[in-house]
Amino acid sequence: MSVKTNLEAVTQRMYGKNIGGLSDKELYFAILNMTKEMIDPKEVIKGKKKVYYISAEFLIGKLLSNNLINLGIYDELEQALKEEGKELSRIEEIEPEPSLGNGGLGRLAACFLDSIATLGLSGDGVGLNYHLGLFKQVFKNRQQTEEKNDWIEAQSWLTKTDVSFPVYFGDKKVMSRLYDIDVIGYDNGRNKLHLFDIETVDESIVSDDIDFDKTDIDKNLTLFLYPDDSDEAGRQLRIYQQYFMVCNGAQLILKEMKDNGYDLHKLNEHAVIQINDTHPTMVIPEIIRILTQEEGFGMDEAIDVVSKTCAYTNHTILAEALEKWPVDYLEKVVPQLMPIIRELDRRVAEKYTDEKVQIIDKENRVHMAHIDIHYGFSVNGVAAIHTDILKETELNHFYRLYPEKFNNKTNGITFRRWLLSCNRELAACITRTIGEGWKKDAAQLERLMEHIDDEALLTQIRDIKNDKKTALAAYIGEHEGVEINPESIYDIQIKRLHEYKRQQMNALYIIHKYLEIKGGKKPSTPVTFIFGAKAAPAYIIAQDIIHLLLCLQEIVNNDPDVKDYMKVVMVENYNVSYAEKLIPACDISEQISLASKEASGTGNMKFMLNGAVTLGTSDGANVEINELVGDDNIYVFGEKSESVIAHYEKADYVAKDFYKNSKVIREAVDFITSKAVLQVGDRKRLVRLQKELINKDWFMTLLDLEDYIATKDRMLEDYKDEAKWKRMMLVNIAKAGFFSSDRTIAEYNRDIWKLN
Ligand SMILES: *Cc1c(COP(=O)(O)O)cnc(C)c1O
Repeated sequence: MSVKTNLEAVTQRMYGKNIGGLSDKELYFAILNMTKEMIDPKEVIKGKKKVYYISAEFLIGKLLSNNLINLGIYDELEQALKEEGKELSRIEEIEPEPSLGNGGLGRLAACFLDSIATLGLSGDGVGLNYHLGLFKQVFKNRQQTEEKNDWIEAQSWLTKTDVSFPVYFGDKKVMSRLYDIDVIGYDNGRNKLHLFDIETVDESIVSDDIDFDKTDIDKNLTLFLYPDDSDEAGRQLRIYQQYFMVCNGAQLILKEMKDNGYDLHKLNEHAVIQINDTHPTMVIPEIIRILTQEEGFGMDEAIDVVSKTCAYTNHTILAEALEKWPVDYLEKVVPQLMPIIRELDRRVAEKYTDEKVQIIDKENRVHMAHIDIHYGFSVNGVAAIHTDILKETELNHFYRLYPEKFNNKTNGITFRRWLLSCNRELAACITRTIGEGWKKDAAQLERLMEHIDDEALLTQIRDIKNDKKTALAAYIGEHEGVEINPESIYDIQIKRLHEYKRQQMNALYIIHKYLEIKGGKKPSTPVTFIFGAKAAPAYIIAQDIIHLLLCLQEIVNNDPDVKDYMKVVMVENYNVSYAEKLIPACDISEQISLASKEASGTGNMKFMLNGAVTLGTSDGANVEINELVGDDNIYVFGEKSESVIAHYEKADYVAKDFYKNSKVIREAVDFITSKAVLQVGDRKRLVRLQKELINKDWFMTLLDLEDYIATKDRMLEDYKDEAKWKRMMLVNIAKAGFFSSDRTIAEYNRDIWKLN
């Protein structure tokens, strides 16, 4: 049956109307239902061993386009709709974006699910069904405000199941409810994303400014991702959520083992649990608890089998992000787990005297990562340099105990979403040039290198980029009310707002450029600086940086001396859908974290794949991008990670010295509290940010600023050399195959999971 006949049947059944007679919203629901029905008969991927990827976040993005592509019916449906005067891309806009993640770590989990299914591996995601998820960002008075993000509609990709488990917080019992989202591989079978929920959740307890009673667990448990943890109730709510996730996950896993008739004593032969960062760590003591208390295991054996089943991925070396929960909190929320955690701690203390590897420290805090490392069989970092830093510095004490556990798995991205779906024109151009093979074997992109002198191809790629820039300009005009010039250079920095990612350094560049133009030094090619970033509500300096960017947007875009040469735009509520519009249109990919601080980054890979050129530090996966494209096709600046780490060790970085000794730096930093900015901005925020930069600057913005300015200026100059730039674009696309998450997952499977 053709897709069109199929859809007609669904629209008749649902609305008693033909396709042409439906509103866009009705049509969206009809396509949603049709797609779900087409997924239904797809075979569930089976194997004698299965991976459970447990994660607090799954930043899956909208699913319609991807599911249509993976089912292989996108083009046919698009054509069928066109015949009825409907445009599929407009229908796609209607789908609300699931709000189940926050940034790179959650997006990685989503890419991994796509690749696991595409490679035909048996593996499910396990997480929580947050009703309001991450907040929606709204700018008011050039500041971020947070609003509820109500994303779940009556009809959605979620399927309510009849699975429900009891979860105890001490004596308090709640019942869970499992919702599933199908994950279909590209031209392959299906796995599941399991999202646990609680039926008594009550969205009405949340006020418009997203305040709510943090102690009412029955009503709030699955409302938010990362509830504000600036007070005790907020921190405890995170523990409630984490335990709810792993307690359900553990019961689900053990139930599936039993349903399959497997012997729990051989759990590790049939299941592997990948712990995505430390949020799901309690799954280790929880399964040990169940096995010893309900399945008749002795403690030694329970610990042994769980340790052979669990593997841990580390995503950060930022000390503040490594979770340490006070014993008091855990005693209050999950008293039944503390005897197990104390036993795990006792065994470590008995074997090792080194303070740094203990599970419970002298201040009575439980180091979650330490549980993972002692009681898991694998510890992986997410890019080569990150894993090296873990081994040599951050987790060196553990590496010396367990060198065999440590391994690297450089992150990747799914090319289905980040090329086939978001840049269909470029995907088609690549296919015309090297055939279809690259879609299943990304390494074949390398064959584009044979066409490096093909002028017609280079021009096609450049033209596609220009079309994407024009489309983005229209979208930004409509949604942000800012007019940008499609012929300007698009310089884009989109990622969570954090001082280590150094959006503030980009802001200082913009100020520098603005002052140059005011001084009469006009650039020959105009530039548009585009930002997208949410800041954690309690992270004050990050909010201040957003404020500065929005003030600069106001000043620059309205200055008649400047606006024809540069524009600044910070897009509101940056999310996956926005990323899919921004990335294909980018010329310069900003990846400027302080070396050693960005574990990998995946935004950098998405940009590269879409033909942007990276401006970056030697950090995370930038290092591997550099190795692949060579020094001539990337712009690298800034101090290297070893010297940054040495600065921290010696505590010898003094921001004020840089401020005092460089006129360029001083002028840029001083401008933050100039009359021009104070006129449009909030004095308290601006003064605080300026003081932070001069007196503290923990992430060493001023250290790299001059090199950054010089390198970016060189890059803008090079852009004028069209022939050179086009070749750089092609090289970046051709070398991006390594960053397919299919490659990453094949490595996880080869080295860690060993599924059949
Ligand atoms: C890829 C992605 C990220 C991660 O970006 P980085 O630059 O690696 O930090 C964050 N948010 C969204 C919406 C993404 O798609």
